[in-house]
Amino acid sequence: MMNRPERLTEGRPTQGRPTQTGEAARSEIDTFTGNRALALEEGLIFEIGRAEVTGVDLDEPAPFTDRLGGLARKAALGLPGLSEPEAMRHYVRLSQKNYSIDAGLYPLGSCTMKHNPRLNEALARLPGFADIHPLQPQSTVQGALELMEELARWLLALTGMEAIAMSPKAGAHGEACGMMAIKAAIAAKGEGATRKIVLVPDSAHGTNPASATRIGFEIRSVPARADGTVDAAEVRRRLGPDVAAIMLTNPNTCGLFEKDIVAIAEVVHEAGAYFYCDGANFNAIMGKARPGDLGVDAMHINLHKTFSTPHGGGGPGAGPVALSAQLAPFAPLPFLRRDDNGLRLIEQASEAPQSIGRMSAFHGQMGMFVRALAYMLSHGADGLRQASEDAVLSANYIRASLADLLSQPFGDKLCMHEALFDDAWLKPTGLTTLDFAKALIDEGYHPMTIYFPLVVHGAMLIEPTESESKASLDLFIATMRDLAFAALRGETERFLAAPFHAPRRRLDETGAARRPILKWTKPVAE
Ligand SMILES: *Cc1c(COP(=O)(O)O)cnc(C)c1O
Repeated sequence: MMNRPERLTEGRPTQGRPTQTGEAARSEIDTFTGNRALALEEGLIFEIGRAEVTGVDLDEPAPFTDRLGGLARKAALGLPGLSEPEAMRHYVRLSQKNYSIDAGLYPLGSCTMKHNPRLNEALARLPGFADIHPLQPQSTVQGALELMEELARWLLALTGMEAIAMSPKAGAHGEACGMMAIKAAIAAKGEGATRKIVLVPDSAHGTNPASATRIGFEIRSVPARADGTVDAAEVRRRLGPDVAAIMLTNPNTCGLFEKDIVAIAEVVHEAGAYFYCDGANFNAIMGKARPGDLGVDAMHINLHKTFSTPHGGGGPGAGPVALSAQLAPFAPLPFLRRDDNGLRLIEQASEAPQSIGRMSAFHGQMGMFVRALAYMLSHGADGLRQASEDAVLSANYIRASLADLLSQPFGDKLCMHEALFDDAWLKPTGLTTLDFAKALIDEGYHPMTIYFPLVVHGAMLIEPTESESKASLDLFIATMRDLAFAALRGETERFLAAPFHAPRRRLDETGAARRPILKWTKPVAE
């Protein structure tokens, strides 16, 4: 029975309702069913399913002898079942619980949540791309290989680099790939035993130090200047024969262009180290600046951010890594080579003796490749440049429209593709960044990134991307202003218990992260 009242008994049904949300959450449910208008409650399948129900009818099998050697199950498995319409409703309702870029503005800074044109989806579903198998003979998938080569060509043109590794499957995976290539290059020079340190600015995304540490480097942090950028002199002070690389994000996670990037690359190279650039923020500079010209040795590109493919919630990603001429020989397998018979994947170490080997089982995320190339071709080179310009314009429009109310950690100056505020302006109100973000949920917005970058107190990082219309930005700005005025007027009750209108209220987020309950346990019968 799913969300249907037990008509013959008093009180609300318990079936179909989550069991682990605590009394506080439950007391907010003020309807008989637990539903609120068209926002429907949905329990776990274990809570709503019944072992005796199934969505399919199977005939009783004819008598047979099993060959399981006595291991056949004696009793029913007891898996929860649903009728066919119930099963469909269950999964549709779950899908509707996701906030998505298709539903509304998604201002999550550092994530580049941009519109994914439906054209991309139509092309990714073409049978010639969607129905092929990575183990098919290469002569039968020349078109798919051509697509990979063409995408690589675009990425090389945009980055101005020497080679591109297509197989890494996310930004963090690309970081690992680039840092492994750097490690291999250092080892090839006979410096593997000495160069163990990787410099990482304080504002870096957490994946940077994590990736470097995982492959055996030690982290030394580099503080930012008062203006939020990294000083080449500070980098030089930390360089030495023990330093393998720097990992720098540009534009950085404060939404600022690292204006000393060329000088930083020079001092790093002079010291015999390599320059890894975190390219997750490429959406701000695509078509405007080429990392290769800035002295970058390795940089991942989040296809699933810059080139629009959907991401979040565990969706697929792709993190190709652009490599400089120094690092190209260490690129992972497989990679494409064109010879007389067409395109061929180089998969054996014998053909690429310096390669770091495989990053993943096959060649990368084909569906992401198709979407990214569709996005590039439909924009054209000038369109990609304009996307960057519009993304920066949108961010500055938001920044300038809120600058009289919200405080900016690095002063009132132009940002790149994301606008960063801190919580200094909230101080007199007694409210926190978290309270403010929760109130945005009541207004129907996914909150901006909060408390990141860590170097900014109570950070609010807003990235609108180029795909929002002016009307959409204006409504968001008006909402932010309305909330800011309410906070400054002292209407703290609108914030402290927010969200009021979400299916669940304040959750114990720390508890959920520290003590995650990942397994459903059957409640003990009363
Ligand atoms: C998103 C992001 C990453 C990691 O990318 P994933 O694809 O999520 O692994 C790294 N650095 C920055 C700055 C990012 O925004």
